[in-house]
Amino acid sequence: MFIDCKNLPDNSTIDTDVCVIGAGAAGITIAREFIGSPERVAVIESGGFKPDARTQALYKGDNVGLPTFDLEVNRLRYFGGTTNHWAGHCRPLDRIDFEVRDWMPHSGWPISRADLESYYRRAQPICGLGPYEYENLDFWTTKTGLPDLELDDARLKSAVYNQSPPTRFGKVYREELGKATNVKVYLNANLQELRTDSSASKVTQARVTCIDGPKVSVSARLFILATGGMENARILLLSDKDRSGGLGNEQGLVGRYFMDHILLRPGEDISLSDPKLNLDLYHSLHSVDGGKMFSVLASTERLMRKERMPNFRIHLIRASAQNKTPVGKIFTLLDELADPAGDRPRLESKTKRDSIALHLVLEPVPNPDSRISLTDKRDLFGQKKIAVNWQVTDADLAAVYRALELAALEFGRMGYGRGCGVIFEDQEHWPSNLEAGRHHCGTTRMSTSPKTGVVNRDCQVFDVPNLYIAGSSVFPTIGYANPTLTIVALALRLADHAKEQLR
Ligand SMILES: Cc1cc2nc3c(=O)[nH]c(=O)nc-3n(C[C@H](O)[C@H](O)[C@H](O)COP(=O)(O)OP(=O)(O)OC[C@H]3O[C@@H](n4cnc5c(N)ncnc54)[C@H](O)[C@@H]3O)c2cc1C
Repeated sequence: MFIDCKNLPDNSTIDTDVCVIGAGAAGITIAREFIGSPERVAVIESGGFKPDARTQALYKGDNVGLPTFDLEVNRLRYFGGTTNHWAGHCRPLDRIDFEVRDWMPHSGWPISRADLESYYRRAQPICGLGPYEYENLDFWTTKTGLPDLELDDARLKSAVYNQSPPTRFGKVYREELGKATNVKVYLNANLQELRTDSSASKVTQARVTCIDGPKVSVSARLFILATGGMENARILLLSDKDRSGGLGNEQGLVGRYFMDHILLRPGEDISLSDPKLNLDLYHSLHSVDGGKMFSVLASTERLMRKERMPNFRIHLIRASAQNKTPVGKIFTLLDELADPAGDRPRLESKTKRDSIALHLVLEPVPNPDSRISLTDKRDLFGQKKIAVNWQVTDADLAAVYRALELAALEFGRMGYGRGCGVIFEDQEHWPSNLEAGRHHCGTTRMSTSPKTGVVNRDCQVFDVPNLYIAGSSVFPTIGYANPTLTIVALALRLADHAKEQLR
């Protein structure tokens, strides 16, 4: 059932069992899990069914870090959230992404990939994806009839991505939520802060305000914040009336470790020695058994362990002969990096040839100085806005170069072409030449201990037993996979846990 919060009496109270704040991928997934259950659920959503400029402006803030980061246009503040314009690329995180990697500071989730496996399977159709098969590449080469590259698994592998239509959660699940009698979605309802009992150990009330409308409060047994990777941290920081510094922030960790995928489109080309080389598996989308897929190059576990690297993926983008980076700058360094097998990349002539561009997506090293914090600037409700200080490190830079180098070397080893890009001559532009993946993670990280994280393995805020967080803000590390399939899997797991707690 949908209710416009503007029509509620001023100072009224919504009494419910579960209060979910935010109706994006995470919030809608949790709300759907409760449809038909004995519990009453109230979903508090800032926007309506369509974008509204004044509501969207509530997301405004400052960027005090890398200049290429844009915090206003990336997030959408209406029913369905940012899935109203997501691209729909989906893949689970790798097993190694959950592990403590001694070369990766602050790595290690308190749960494993195995803990999430059944939830990933359930998340797959919710995101509108086809067969759940991410490990067995033969499945896809057989189904598509397309060859994969014979990569050296000491370096790279082909990794499968599934493509969502993309599922707009607000459109696809609107009717179902509209019919639900025990789930009420309050639109135009802006959470301002969470209040606790006198001992500050339990959330008792969510304070909600409408633009040009009433102020209401929500009382519930259990609260779940699902307002996106930045706003989850902002709300905890704003909720500082009962606990100084904000809820869950005893160690000053809320807002820290802000991460996004590092995206580099360097014009780093592989000039193909055989223009007929079949790379369709990597270049195009393929329909298989009701879903769509494509493939990328990705680092292998062997490579990561041996070279102590973060995880990364590389998209192969076909550049037309007319439209490609001029091959004026032959990249000679790669000539010197002969493959150990002695199969050296071929020398390239300076004529125009068919080429492919490499688009790199790198997992960043978690960095406590990369962070979101409150400023003294205010939104139209008088609430403090955020400043985002996205930082990357020299370790990230080293990994960027090595990843591109490895791709060029692999093409040389296979005898298909060689690198001819400009990235290594471009070092002085780092890091202003990188882009953000628009995946906001890490600001309420999951950990085994309140000393090192904001939520525990159940996504419960340490020391606040009835407050939970859904979304990529809980990711302590982010692999190279886009986050939404994992967000939905974690949301399903959280819904199961919440039901257990309530019963
Ligand atoms: C251009 C773009 C392309 C992307 N492509 C991909 C992709 O290909 N694959 C992928 O996996 N991910 C992709 N993403 C990321 C993806 O969109 C997010 O991971 C996903 O939407 C996050 O879900 P969420 O529910 O955590 O947050 P959101 O979807 O952002 O939802 C948060 C909700 O909370 C509401 N809200 C916020 N503050 C308040 C408040 N104070 N009170 C009440 N409600 C509030 C908002 O209105 C919103 O509805 C992309 C993102 C962008 C910007």
